[in-house]
Amino acid sequence: MDKKERAICDECGSEFLKESSHMINLCPECAHYLYGYTNCKHIFENGKCIYCYWNGSESNYIKWLKNN
Ligand SMILES: [Zn+2]
Ligand SMILES: [Zn+2]
Repeated sequence: MDKKERAICDECGSEFLKESSHMINLCPECAHYLYGYTNCKHIFENGKCIYCYWNGSESNYIKWLKNN
C-alpha cells in the first residue's frame, strides 16, 4: 500500500496522483490541455501511468482540443 494522495480529475474522471499535477482538481493531462501546464511524460503500465496514475481517459472537450 502506498500512501500517496490521489484525487479524481474533474475533467476526464480519471484518478491521478495529487503531487504529479499542478492543479488540485485536474490530472496533468487535462491541466496541460486546459491551462498549459507541463504535462506528465506518461508511461503506461497496467492501464495507468506509473507517474501520475492517469488512466488515459479523455473528456469530449479534451478530445476536441487535441484535434484543433
Ligand atoms: Zn484529466
Ligand atoms: Zn502520467
